[in-house]
Amino acid sequence: QAPLVMIPGPTPVAESIRQAMAIQTYGHTYSGFVAIYKECLTGLKQIFQADHIIVTGGAGTLAMEMGLLNTVRAGEAVLVVSHGVFGDRFGLIAKALGIHAEVLTCPAGQVVPLTLIEEKLQAKNYKAIIVTHVDTSTGAMAGIRAIGQLAHKFNTLYIVDGVCASAAVPEPMRDFGIDVIVTTCQKAFGTPPGLTMVAFSERALQRREELGNVPGYYSDWKNWLPIMENPGLYFSTPPVNLIVALQEAVKIVLAEGLEERYSRHNRIAASIRAGLAAIGLELATAQEALAPTLSVIKYPEGVEDTAFRANMEQYDVFVAGGIGALKGKAFRIGHMGNICINEIVLTLYAIERSLCAGGYPVIPGAAVGEAWKTWQCY
Ligand code: PMP
Repeated sequence: QAPLVMIPGPTPVAESIRQAMAIQTYGHTYSGFVAIYKECLTGLKQIFQADHIIVTGGAGTLAMEMGLLNTVRAGEAVLVVSHGVFGDRFGLIAKALGIHAEVLTCPAGQVVPLTLIEEKLQAKNYKAIIVTHVDTSTGAMAGIRAIGQLAHKFNTLYIVDGVCASAAVPEPMRDFGIDVIVTTCQKAFGTPPGLTMVAFSERALQRREELGNVPGYYSDWKNWLPIMENPGLYFSTPPVNLIVALQEAVKIVLAEGLEERYSRHNRIAASIRAGLAAIGLELATAQEALAPTLSVIKYPEGVEDTAFRANMEQYDVFVAGGIGALKGKAFRIGHMGNICINEIVLTLYAIERSLCAGGYPVIPGAAVGEAWKTWQCY
């Protein structure tokens, strides 16, 4: 029995998604598969209010690269608002593409003040502003609506990394003025990893047209757009079973309802945090920047990272260590996708046991009880 996977992606895969994944594989131009692919894209466009979307094999990082190289030319400047490892990664991708990235940073767990972003946009003309919606290294969530208003004010293309937020936190492209959302499937969509997803606006596509040639072939939107119109055509073989699984995941999202899904994530986050607080654990993320999709928890004095996580596995729960500035100082729990209070209670139970094993005193059930009380009363 594999441990319950409570890291910030991949997340537990629901039974119906596992079943969808397990079908005998279809030929990628089979009419039945073409219909599933199309339905999946239509559902995703609805979720994101997207004019266009590309979904194919890859991961979040490929989506980031595709988002950038189709909209910005080598030698042009972009502003990256970074709240951790994944914001910084955009700076590295830009560098690899010969794009000049100015990276705005802040202390781990906080967010870059809007006033600072506005000053930067005022002082210089950037081709794009890039923001990670939820940085998975620090748990910090950016105010993507307010940043969108600034991007609009300064007429700058607006790119959002939705990886650790999509399908759990609202990302309505039209309402928020987002031009490109780069994302993937193994977090709040709750499928196994392996897909690249890029949603974009008409304005972003226009920008792609203006660029002429781009430094990519598999990554070139123009090679994929005809396939997204008619998945019966061939460009590169898509991961058939994963797309069937994603279609099931999209169905689950739409059946639950977007508002209901977003509010369930808030309720789950409140419950787990009430449990953590009840046993004296503190978050590494500032209150005003907390994302509903994960919690980054500071290790209390005397609790050691490797031993703690090894203990968690003994209790059949897998959590993630800290990365970037929080390496060795914090652990991370993903609480997004198709999970509910049961998984939270199990996770808190394993935390209580593992802390006790490490010599940190916990009253049995203190975290668990507080979490489900909060769930009930939310
Ligand atoms: N952006 C964010 C916010 C992420 O959390 C991750 C992965 N943890 C990525 C990008 C990169 O995604 P992938 O690992 O699928 O390449």
